[in-house]
Amino acid sequence: MSDNSAKNYTSLQYLKGVGPKRAEALASAGILTPEDLIYYFPRAYIDRAVVSSIRQLAVSLRAEQDVFFNNIPNLKSENTLIARISTVQEKQYAKNRRMLIYKIQDETATAKVIFWNRIDYYSRSFKEGDLIVLSGKPELDLNGSVTFHHPELTKLDETEEIDYSKGVLLPIYPLTEKMKASGINNKTLRSIIKSILPICIDKIAESLPEYILEVNKLPSIRETISILHFPENISQTNLANYRLKFEEIFFYELFVNIIKSNFKQSHSGLKFNVRSQLARKLVDNLPFRLTEDQKKVIREIANDISTGKPMNRLLQGDVGSGKTIVSLIIMLIAIDNGFQVALMAPTEVLAEQHYRTITKFMNSVDSDIKISLLTGGLRTSNKRENINSVESGQTNIIIGTHSLFENEIKYKNLGLIVIDEQQRFGVAQRANLIKMASESLEDKSSIPHILVMTATPIPRTLTMTLYGDLDVSIIREMPKNRKPVITKIIFESEIQSVYQFLRDKISQGEQAFIVYPLVEKSEKLELKAATEHHKYLSEKIFPELSIGLIHGQMNWTEKERVMLDFLEKKYQILVSTTVIEVGIDIPDSNIMVIENAERFGLSQLHQLRGRIGRGERQAYCFLITKDNFKYQINRKGMKEDEQLASIIRLKTMERTTDGFEISEVDLKLRGPGDILGLKQSGIPDFRYINIVKDYDIISKAKNQALFVLENDTQLRLKENITLKEKMIKMLRNSENFFRIG
Ligand code: ADP
Ligand code: MG
Repeated sequence: MSDNSAKNYTSLQYLKGVGPKRAEALASAGILTPEDLIYYFPRAYIDRAVVSSIRQLAVSLRAEQDVFFNNIPNLKSENTLIARISTVQEKQYAKNRRMLIYKIQDETATAKVIFWNRIDYYSRSFKEGDLIVLSGKPELDLNGSVTFHHPELTKLDETEEIDYSKGVLLPIYPLTEKMKASGINNKTLRSIIKSILPICIDKIAESLPEYILEVNKLPSIRETISILHFPENISQTNLANYRLKFEEIFFYELFVNIIKSNFKQSHSGLKFNVRSQLARKLVDNLPFRLTEDQKKVIREIANDISTGKPMNRLLQGDVGSGKTIVSLIIMLIAIDNGFQVALMAPTEVLAEQHYRTITKFMNSVDSDIKISLLTGGLRTSNKRENINSVESGQTNIIIGTHSLFENEIKYKNLGLIVIDEQQRFGVAQRANLIKMASESLEDKSSIPHILVMTATPIPRTLTMTLYGDLDVSIIREMPKNRKPVITKIIFESEIQSVYQFLRDKISQGEQAFIVYPLVEKSEKLELKAATEHHKYLSEKIFPELSIGLIHGQMNWTEKERVMLDFLEKKYQILVSTTVIEVGIDIPDSNIMVIENAERFGLSQLHQLRGRIGRGERQAYCFLITKDNFKYQINRKGMKEDEQLASIIRLKTMERTTDGFEISEVDLKLRGPGDILGLKQSGIPDFRYINIVKDYDIISKAKNQALFVLENDTQLRLKENITLKEKMIKMLRNSENFFRIG
């Protein structure tokens, strides 16, 4: 702890009702100063008007039971109760396993509360006769009584009970274990805050300009803080919370948009003439017609590269939506303008596939465009030759992996970089890439155009914030010839029917993937499991068929060979771990069996399924899962949350093939933190705003930020002085905050 914080923590210690032990507990939660304390807001409010009764819960749960699975939002909904503990009982349920069962009671009925973990802690903290506030997800047990597993409990003081029964809103503060241990409870925290608030509040400076408060009908920061600790009614607290969220996201948007416009102004870009003979010829010779969405994004991109500003655009489109051809058309425009272009793929196998696809497209237009592949798998002599061709400028299109920008290759006038599946490239790599490309340009003051492509559908709630520094184009429409993959959940005991289905289809010349999850902790064990499964399938189930195996322990040449063998039909079935998530198109493989499907993440299931259903034929995906999912939603020993989530995942896959819809569900289940590894992407951990749920606030705050910048680009106006100070601070703390620039 620094001197400074030590001093501040001492200052809390002398407050009435605190003392050294409590000050330490507060400090460990990051509360060091009185100001920290008044910014420590309740996590909830108990209001007689909104608290449920046990009877109400029972009625609505019973009504819901029938439509249980179709009712995803409710599975996650929290309910709050006030009740008294009537009995406590500890039970042994397996060897050495204990559970704690509370019976609780309000004026209407009784309910059960069950803890499986931390039994000692709970039995110490909550006793018979205690009045508690409970928040959690209720469910009905087999006897139809309302049950909570591991809800959040807060003990209520008798005086709080009196306040509450008079209709006062009770704020509930988040309390850490340390706070509880030092004797800080809800009531003590409230009274400490009550005593310091009048003194501290005047020192809090307003961070939003008056006109922004007014236009957006926001309370002042001082009002906001007072309301949150001592509200009169819930609508007040809603307004105060709204202000905190608005402020948080407003500053973020302001910041992002300043960076974005600085970037555009401080670098000049290459100005392309977008009337390209080559591109025209390619489009005229395509064996299919571009979809309206493909045409739309081509127009958007063409517009970017014709302005003389550097393009920094994200092209989003589900697996199979046809991004490659879009990028090739743009590459040809760049080539016609005299530039080299590079296409960077996430894996060597994919780089190879791009090489093959693009070579094929180019052969059809009969041009002398030279395409070079640069991958680690090439023999050294070939590699040297290809590098020479790139450096001499003979090569027009360079295809490779991130090693394209890690090795010392001297490009020749590299004007466009296309990055496929961007989430695998880090900040530093991108910066390096721009640098290397700029050095290769004849006009050294310019930087190349960048087009990033991704198949990971990003929900609209995130595109606004996550890709704030990128422009976004979206392909939503799939090529017309696609039939949605028929997807079915199959329980393990019924798997023979799937095997029979495979035999029938294979006898008609089709092929199938059988995907096996990464289950083992060590790579060795994992390999063993996959190998054994392969053996089992080849010997016991499909002795008449030839079955290939591909897994993550193979190097890329080995994987490539297996995939090519599969493509050439040396195998009818390919057993695989998730390594086939991306890779070579296998047009005759239209069936995918995913074993232990409940173990896969939703976006992973979606990516996997994207490998089939690309051709004219009807494709099928079977999600194999445990039998007891059928009967037993509440299996012991497995966290209910996990189990519910996996069922939701499977149901979602069965219901839809729309990647955007899938990603919305995924986001709900996982929270934004996990999607694409938000941490790396530079999105801060927001304290108040929920980037999934608060779409409206985000969009209002963003408009407000854009409005401010439109009228005062440099934040020079007097009324914006606080904004400017804040931006300077944020810029100082923001090394590596943005991915490019
Ligand atoms: P992704 O967006 O996943 O990268 P691809 O670019 O690999 O998708 O396209 C998938 C397949 O669809 C390719 O075989 C491609 O040639 C084909 N394709 C692309 N656009 C169209 C279209 N407009 N109509 C029909 N097929 C198309
Ligand atoms: Mg692709």
